[in-house]
Amino acid sequence: MSRGADLELVNVTKSYSGTIAVDAISLRIKAGTYCCLLGPSGCGKSSTLRMIAGHEDISGGDIVIGARAVNGEPPVKRGTAMMFQSYALFPHLSVRDNVAFSLKMRGVGKADRYAKADALLRLVAMDRYADRLPAQLSGGQQQRVALARSLITDPVILLLDEPLSALDPFLRIKMRAELKRFQRELGITFIHVTHGQEEAMALADLAVVMNNGRIEQAGSPQEIFDRPATEFVARFMGGHNVIDLAGKRVTVRADKVSFAPGGESAGAEHVRTGTVTAVEYQGYSVVVTLDAAGGELTAIVPERQFFARPVEPGAAAAIGWNAADIHELSPTA
Ligand code: ADP
Repeated sequence: MSRGADLELVNVTKSYSGTIAVDAISLRIKAGTYCCLLGPSGCGKSSTLRMIAGHEDISGGDIVIGARAVNGEPPVKRGTAMMFQSYALFPHLSVRDNVAFSLKMRGVGKADRYAKADALLRLVAMDRYADRLPAQLSGGQQQRVALARSLITDPVILLLDEPLSALDPFLRIKMRAELKRFQRELGITFIHVTHGQEEAMALADLAVVMNNGRIEQAGSPQEIFDRPATEFVARFMGGHNVIDLAGKRVTVRADKVSFAPGGESAGAEHVRTGTVTAVEYQGYSVVVTLDAAGGELTAIVPERQFFARPVEPGAAAAIGWNAADIHELSPTA
């Protein structure tokens, strides 16, 4: 199977009739990386993906694949392919003909294109369904066919725009594990757009958090979650308390604070007291929100600890933290 190629975005900009959707972003994605573009709706993820794919003109900057600027080249010449959502399968073509379609368009003979389609259908464990029509498949099976179809041209970079959003939550988690496994087996770069931070953390080697057409932070999921660069990233990823501390904005992870019912000290270097406003059971843990002087605070309390001394909304409680768990934010531009 083919291997990936390095991808570099250099000051890439997209404007739609004067509105800037992507604002001079620069990013390096090494060959063979699982990269997730992450951020709220409208932040410029899809525009970025479509420019890399060659489905959208770039308004400024360069897209470099391998050693070559590919600005203006069609997708086939770039070595990119896009995985479309399941409903983009041709309903009147068999699974095998759907997968082989791009090769037919390129004039590849039937025996050769079917041999390759069947090999890819084996990769995604769909070879038994080669003669079926898309309507005779489940949603997850259609997704796997769509993946096989996008791989038929041997792309070095596969682009996936919210590929799991049409699936129910259970299937989404199953398919996400499969995507990761296929990416590892193929060894090519996947660039996957999502607005789900949990999905990005589960999949990405490189997570890129976007906001307002810019990159707020790019790094491993652990870097992004544990050391968010900006308040935007901390709030978007969730699980953080953003606190004003002696003129500085800092975060403390909600699973690193201590929680004490009643008016106790919570046994920490910094303590704030307040009133419990919400209690949310999550299985392994219970999320407790406190309305405290200086703002809302959240504690993720291990299940057993919580139920040893449970609290309800309205109760007095304290949340504390130690200096070692404080993470300083850079001011958001
Ligand atoms: P995301 O994928 O993060 O939701 P998009 O890249 O789709 O963001 O959109 C970024 C911004 O560009 C949004 O403000 C959106 O309204 C605008 N936009 C996207 N596509 C077009 C288009 N074809 N014409 C005009 N504006 C667009």
